[in-house]
Amino acid sequence: MAKPIVAIVGRPNVGKSTLFNMMVGERISIVKDTPGVTRDRIYADVTWLNHSFTLMDTGGIEPETNDLMLKHMREQAEMAIEMADVVLFLTDGKTGLVDADYQVADMLRKSHKKVVLVVNKIDNFEKQSMDVYEFYNLGIGEPFPISSIGKIGVGEMLDEIVHLFPEDLEEEEDERPRVAIVGKPNVGKSSIINKLLGENRVIVSDIAGTTRDAVDTAVTWEGKEYVFIDTAGLRRKNKIKEEIERYSILRTVSAVERADVVMLVIDATEGITEQDAKIAGIAHDRGRGMIIVVNKWDAVEKDNNSVKKYTNDIRKVLSFLPYAEIVFVSAKTGQRLPKLFDTLEVVIQNHSLRIATGVLNDILAEAVAMQQPPSDKGRRLKIYYMTQVSVKPPTFVIFVNSKKLMHFSYTRYLENKIREAFGFSGTPLKFFVRERK
Ligand code: GDP
Ligand code: GDP
Repeated sequence: MAKPIVAIVGRPNVGKSTLFNMMVGERISIVKDTPGVTRDRIYADVTWLNHSFTLMDTGGIEPETNDLMLKHMREQAEMAIEMADVVLFLTDGKTGLVDADYQVADMLRKSHKKVVLVVNKIDNFEKQSMDVYEFYNLGIGEPFPISSIGKIGVGEMLDEIVHLFPEDLEEEEDERPRVAIVGKPNVGKSSIINKLLGENRVIVSDIAGTTRDAVDTAVTWEGKEYVFIDTAGLRRKNKIKEEIERYSILRTVSAVERADVVMLVIDATEGITEQDAKIAGIAHDRGRGMIIVVNKWDAVEKDNNSVKKYTNDIRKVLSFLPYAEIVFVSAKTGQRLPKLFDTLEVVIQNHSLRIATGVLNDILAEAVAMQQPPSDKGRRLKIYYMTQVSVKPPTFVIFVNSKKLMHFSYTRYLENKIREAFGFSGTPLKFFVRERK
């Protein structure tokens, strides 16, 4: 299930990072085991009551001069409007309203996006209540006073935010697979999209509906419908080439969040890079299906060994996703682009494949017989049984006598056995270990 996205916008120094850090708390320091993913403090998962969402700080390096500041604010707001389900518009109750606040409020009002107006630095609610009223003038609703430093008012603000989340019914009813095309600038994402959508076997229809859908495209291929996510940005004629890194990361997170399957485009003339690994890590973390698209295959000198060499290089750098499918294409010549749909279909199937418990436990019994489970101080791990609890990605629970005895390497061994038996190419698998007394 896609988590809602909440983006913080606001002028420099209103307290965006302070609020972000406060909301994220200790959670950010949880170290995940995906190599290549550095935990930038620009997006994070937040849980409030029984709601989880992705929080984004659109701030970043903020310009000093006034005209540059206004331009920056517009970009920030556009970004947030495009990507977020709810925009958290942060203002400063100490300095009061300024011109830039009005401008951002105008943009937000026109976008019809859901907005929570928040007045920060109200450290003393009684003394400063008058300071808050002024913010009604923005015409975007009731201002929520908070103190990020004093941690006051934040609960009420969060209640309002989660109250505005879209009902998830809509997306559950939509059975169409959702595909995101991601990758560094200039690897050929737009060229691939444009070429794919230009294929005469492809039927394209824009999706009417909510603001978010306006950036997606429905595509029919051989009678089957898919939704390509955030294609508007890619299809735009005069897109800003050097989108700042922060925005391209946030854009990727947002696209991946809403996707079932991710196509990571890399540039064959450049080879696989650390930056690619970082992007792949975002998709892996979120359990999405994965296809590595090696583009510009026309532009490299090839011999009989090229595919093998490229595949090895990619497998090495992306060692944390050995399951990824790899396809070599050229957006320029159209070479093998239709094959992308075949691969996509395979990955979609595998991403939502269910294995019956009986069959799964036959494999488990065989695997355990072939390699004894680990033991510690004379006590041996016993695996009672295993069951698949969900799909997208396929998720398994293994019931054991003692969690402490279960090694990472043994889980990996079982994963390999399951993959040998059922394939599951293109999709990550998740495992949970539970004790049964
Ligand atoms: P950003 O530029 O919007 O990310 O703002 P920062 O988070 O860097 O905060 C700017 C300044 O405002 C810092 O000096 C913070 O300590 C201060 N600040 C942030 N939140 C509060 C608050 O709730 N009350 C007060 N008094 N100061 C705050
Ligand atoms: P994006 O930033 O990832 O969307 O990349 P673009 O689609 O804008 O492509 C960047 C550059 O690479 C453009 O100059 C394209 O013409 C070029 N390009 C894209 N795909 C191919 C390809 O398959 N072969 C070659 N030789 N060039 C390509």
